Amino acid sequence: MADGASVADVANQIGSGLAKAAVAARLNGELVDLSAVLGPDGPYDLVILTDKSDEALSILRHSTAHVMAAAVRRLYGDGVKFGIGPAIDDGFYYDFDLPERIADDRLEQVEAEMAGIIAEGAPFERREVSHDEAVSVMQAAGQDYKVELLHDIAAAGVAEGEQLHDAEAKPQAGETVSLYRSADFVDLCRGPHIPHAGKIPAFKLLSVAGSYWRGDSTRPMLQRIYGTAFFSKKALREHLARVEEAKKRDHRRIGKDLDLFSFHEEGPGFAFMHHNGMIILNEILQDWRRLHHEAGYEEIRTPTILSEALWHRSGHWDNYREAMYFTRIDEADYAVKPMNCPGGLLVYLNRPHSYRELPMRVAELGLVHRHEKSGVLHGLLRVRQFTQDDAHIFCLPEQVQDEVIGVINLVDTIYRTFGFDDVRVELSTRPEHSIGTDEMWEHATGALRGALEACGIRYKVNEGEGAFYAPKIDYHIRDCLGRSWQCGTIQVDLAMPERFDLAYVGQDNARHRPAMIHRAILGSIERFLGILIEHYGGDFPLWLAPVQVAVLPVSDRYTTYGAKVLEVLDAAGLRAELDDTSDKVSAKIRRATLRRIPYMLIVGEKEQDAGTVSVRDKTLGDLGAEPTEAFVARAADEIHDKRLRPTAPGPA
Ligand SMILES: [Zn+2]
Ligand SMILES: [Zn+2]
Repeated sequence: MADGASVADVANQIGSGLAKAAVAARLNGELVDLSAVLGPDGPYDLVILTDKSDEALSILRHSTAHVMAAAVRRLYGDGVKFGIGPAIDDGFYYDFDLPERIADDRLEQVEAEMAGIIAEGAPFERREVSHDEAVSVMQAAGQDYKVELLHDIAAAGVAEGEQLHDAEAKPQAGETVSLYRSADFVDLCRGPHIPHAGKIPAFKLLSVAGSYWRGDSTRPMLQRIYGTAFFSKKALREHLARVEEAKKRDHRRIGKDLDLFSFHEEGPGFAFMHHNGMIILNEILQDWRRLHHEAGYEEIRTPTILSEALWHRSGHWDNYREAMYFTRIDEADYAVKPMNCPGGLLVYLNRPHSYRELPMRVAELGLVHRHEKSGVLHGLLRVRQFTQDDAHIFCLPEQVQDEVIGVINLVDTIYRTFGFDDVRVELSTRPEHSIGTDEMWEHATGALRGALEACGIRYKVNEGEGAFYAPKIDYHIRDCLGRSWQCGTIQVDLAMPERFDLAYVGQDNARHRPAMIHRAILGSIERFLGILIEHYGGDFPLWLAPVQVAVLPVSDRYTTYGAKVLEVLDAAGLRAELDDTSDKVSAKIRRATLRRIPYMLIVGEKEQDAGTVSVRDKTLGDLGAEPTEAFVARAADEIHDKRLRPTAPGPA
């Protein structure tokens, strides 16, 4: 390839198909535009990114943010000041400072203006300029925020402003910075972008929200427009349908409708569990306890407040202090526990242990508190107080792998119970900053790897992503909307046994150091409830439903028979209610449906005479009449098997 050739030239030479699909490239590890020139010194490590890659999707979305900014400038004039416009998960945003409020209904106008720029096929033109020149360009344009970003780049070498993605903040290297022009809008940006706006096949603007410049409430409030873009109209349509569905399934909304929990300003980030929420949690925990008992666990409970000295010893003071709450009792310093481990260790240390006792599997449903910034709190999914389904396993070093296999099997059983069968597993290895010897890490990581392989589990390795004290296995479960949630974790601890001088007496009568495994399966049970609500869309399986059956007499005359049916249901241990209002049966059905009660038993003259009930499934509709006892037996089976609810039949 001749000197001076661009990435686009290379793509063209390989084939016109590739040239057409090309979006940007990765050249010697750096993301670059297709117009980037290869330079005289090979060899090159060049990967051309097509619309199949996630990086290309981020580039498309970020480029669309530029086009949106250009459109806003056309509509609102030169007075608009621009903040930043990164790609984010699922889309992009751009922050604008302008005197006028951008009403939601003006988004369509912005979209129309963007469509014009896309039809023009406005190119993205990159220009490298000196830092000083960039400052004067932005100053002349009255772009105060960009000038501030440029000063920060000069000061810290970090372009916090324009970057492809929040997580990829990198300095604009060297003396120069890059400016990009698209349509008539010039922006400070590291790039890369799509070659021209005509390469945006499908986009949609979603909402406008206020956002403080740099998230700082003492700085100006900007207007942030959120949008998204995809490489096909079909992918955009599917995404928007998923967003709609997610809104319907929002656990905060369903939690309120079903009276499961609430939040109050008197306790920000602390969930108040209501009766209905407790029914679900207690059912989950009852099954959890049964499975743990069967798997040979014992259960303990340790205090919430423990002396500050303990947290110095455990290392939490050094590594976790920012997220902890502190208090004083009788002139001494104490901390509220953010984790259960130190308490569990004190129980282990309470008496000597023989090798014959190992492995010891000690579970604790431990209530922990962690400080989260108020801005990130989100219903049950991000709270400051939660119960972890924790356990610590103390064992001989040679037992670690078998113990991990046991945990893997338990995780599998528990996730399947809830219908999570799409599970992603990741193994994180020794990070750069870590304690312990090579040999310890090899043994611990080898045990985790060996256990995964023995169980035939496919996993991804995150090199160097382990905790500083432990390699770990993480579980990510995928819900029915395709969203991934990190829940379970298994860690082989290399620090605590030393710090707490754990010991067992071996066959040789000498003192030895046991291995220690930390593990959680549901993670935070409050958060898990939030995930379940959204996964089920509020339609809980019968075994979890707060009210399982509603008895609905067709009129007042059959209330007495309805009460008899209720007695049978009560006696069988079903959570049932009788609707003895004088409302029409259609209104009773509507009410029970809104409350997501899985079964409605409708009773009238025919049922009273025959001793039957007419069964209506919330999802499937009318199932016909059957003797009350037959319904009870079927419901008992469904509960025993923890069967998932049927999904609504789709259009034929
Ligand atoms: Zn850009
Ligand atoms: Zn622990």
